[in-house]
Amino acid sequence: MSITKKTLQDIGEFGLIAKIRNWMATSRPEVVRSIGDDVAVIDMGQKALLLTTDILIEDIHFERSWTDPYRLGRKSLAVNISDIAAMGGTPKYFLISIGLPKRLPLSFTSLFYRGLKDEARRFQVDLIGGDTSLSPKIIINICLIGEGKKGNILFRNGAKVGDDLYASGTLGDAALGLKILQDKGLRKKPKGLVNKHLSPTPRVELGQALAKKHIASAMIDISDGLLNDTNHILEESKVGAQLWEDRIPLSTLYRRWAQTYSKAPYQIALSGGEDYELLFTASPQKRAKVSSLARSLNIPLTRVGEILPEKEGVHLIRKGGKEVKLPRLGFDHFR
Ligand code: ADP
Ligand code: MG
Repeated sequence: MSITKKTLQDIGEFGLIAKIRNWMATSRPEVVRSIGDDVAVIDMGQKALLLTTDILIEDIHFERSWTDPYRLGRKSLAVNISDIAAMGGTPKYFLISIGLPKRLPLSFTSLFYRGLKDEARRFQVDLIGGDTSLSPKIIINICLIGEGKKGNILFRNGAKVGDDLYASGTLGDAALGLKILQDKGLRKKPKGLVNKHLSPTPRVELGQALAKKHIASAMIDISDGLLNDTNHILEESKVGAQLWEDRIPLSTLYRRWAQTYSKAPYQIALSGGEDYELLFTASPQKRAKVSSLARSLNIPLTRVGEILPEKEGVHLIRKGGKEVKLPRLGFDHFR
């Protein structure tokens, strides 16, 4: 295929980001991390400035038919807060740019901002500016700024061979909730799963504790799915991993509903995005600390895998012991 005919679909979202990373270079010495982690990290002396941005587009990330503007406001901020949580940082200020259609009811915008305000209050972050434009579809872009103590920040690239791999909470609920929302034939939709999709809770307290107590060695939030986000840690850390499928933490509702939408019981939990749980690695010596943190915060922290040398790639150990070498199965915007 000649280079001029290549499309974004051919290289995928992550292929494109890798290219952008090559095209652009940073020059300022205080830039500790640019492209390649959950947030950009800027050295400010004792402290580090953390910056992240995310975009939500109507009919790609949400549909007006099943989204109420209040929850959309909350979620728009929550997904950005989750990226700061993934560094072990504290969210502080944000800017928001919105593109809105002419005929959008004013009430949509006021309810959206009410949601934004409630989420901002919950995590003590302040809106400090933004931009507004006409757009054929609703577009929401937030840039969130936070901070952390320089020595405590957790990157994607700290995983070591022999480390345990943990996931917080349960996985797959949000992706299953989305399938349920999109299922026009289903009248009574299980609230628990739908809520996981519409109203994610960023794990700020957990992220901060893992960083402050120096428990984790690498961390990411699970926005693209367990497999994709594991891959992001592996690529940045230059390691491999094995995952035990039957250890993936599943909710009761997930167990009840997954079979309606997928033959393979773990498929949605492995590849479905938007759980906004934390995925982290930690040395086996930290197991007692991980369990005691799980108890004190009342958040399940489940050991789902182990870090291997890079040449091993990624293995999934299926229930019953069968081992499969994995392709990437998570969400990619262009594929
Ligand atoms: P997350 O899922 O945590 O939001 P992404 O997968 O969106 O992270 O992005 C991965 C990395 O690539 C981040 O460092 C992000 O800032 C960077 N990135 C994504 N899109 C672009 C872009 N269009 N230009 C420059 N950097 C980008
Ligand atoms: Mg992230």
